[in-house]
Amino acid sequence: MVSKKLPFTKEEILKITEKYPTPFHIYDEKAILENARRLKEAFKAVSGFKEFFAIKALPNPYILKLLKAEGFGADCSSLPELILAEKAGLTGEEIMFSSNDTPAEEFVKAKELGAYINLDDLSHIEYLEKHAGLPEIVCFRYNPGPLKEGNAIIGTPEEAKYGFTREQLFEGYKILKEKGIKRFGLHTMVASNELDPKYFVETARLLFELIVEISEKVGITFEFVNLGGGIGIPYRPEQEPVSYDVIAKGTKAAYDETIKAKGLAPVSVFLECGRVITGPYGYLISQVRHLKHTYKDYVGLDASMANLMRPGIYGAYHHITVLGKEKNKPDHIYDVTGSLCENNDKFAINRNLPEIEVGDLLAIHDSGAHGHAMGFNYNGKLRSAELLLREDGRVVRIRRAETIKDYFATLDFEGLKDFK
Ligand SMILES: *Cc1c(COP(=O)(O)O)cnc(C)c1O
Repeated sequence: MVSKKLPFTKEEILKITEKYPTPFHIYDEKAILENARRLKEAFKAVSGFKEFFAIKALPNPYILKLLKAEGFGADCSSLPELILAEKAGLTGEEIMFSSNDTPAEEFVKAKELGAYINLDDLSHIEYLEKHAGLPEIVCFRYNPGPLKEGNAIIGTPEEAKYGFTREQLFEGYKILKEKGIKRFGLHTMVASNELDPKYFVETARLLFELIVEISEKVGITFEFVNLGGGIGIPYRPEQEPVSYDVIAKGTKAAYDETIKAKGLAPVSVFLECGRVITGPYGYLISQVRHLKHTYKDYVGLDASMANLMRPGIYGAYHHITVLGKEKNKPDHIYDVTGSLCENNDKFAINRNLPEIEVGDLLAIHDSGAHGHAMGFNYNGKLRSAELLLREDGRVVRIRRAETIKDYFATLDFEGLKDFK
């Protein structure tokens, strides 16, 4: 059981809404930092450990800066994400660039920043060389295909568009070696929101064994291995958080039995997790606008799936707390909806909650990853603000809410006047 306690009271949220109207996402700095330190502590015995926070989970430079201070790098996969990392003060080998179907200008920027470049395909060696020149160190993304089972969110590796086949890896490293590259990395990312720590240990072992084999057959030395992200979080109260210790201990044991035993150490071990770093420490705060009783009982919020689309697109569970009614019996059953003209704009379906009144404030849990980040403007919906609850209790706005002016910024209404 994971505690679904909140780091704020209803009174505190009411006070915040005087300055920042709902809906908004609010992130808990103290909890983010404590979690980051827990991860580092668990992995401190793992060779050269570093976490590269996957920016796509929470692309806010204030968060990146907090994580940088904890020694985390950033994992980017687009030009704007590279620029965000740069703006947060990250540079060089603090940045991992793991993209796919990559445009030339992104390779150019990644190279310019001195980021680790992780190639998704054999053909990208030539493409990178042509457009940006080969960097000193090159990494390949491995897709183990039938050798590894995927999970529901990411699908089976064989069906995934990402990465090199096993055979292509040998060929690719051989090509790089012939081109005079001397520094190498290996990467994979095969799970998403996985709650079984053993899965990550198995992936680590698979990569370590592969490193041994490639090192021997191709005659190269690896500098790092990136185990990817994908550590899941307990969205449901009955789920357990993944034990970092189990992953770290298992990873170290597998490393000792393979890389170290074969005399190939040191190889640095990297992670590029997103969800587990910030996910549980964000809350979407929204106010009840309407109640509606038809064939079912509906709670209509001032937030919509434009603020958090995981329930709408994956049917994902996000826990909901009615502020100030934490102790009330959850003896009512509601669909909790937004105002988008799509029937999947529901944060919860048939959810047991205490009796709700218009004006109640709801906290939708675990919005700290793929929450605001996945926001969109369909149906003229505007993205909300992001707030940070600082360790000392202050609240700072780290992104303002969009306005109608933002929404119309890409349209030329002047041109419309003469348009017939
Ligand atoms: C999304 C992604 C991650 C982070 O995944 P999480 O499930 O958030 O840990 C890491 N690496 C790559 C390449 C990704 O696409």
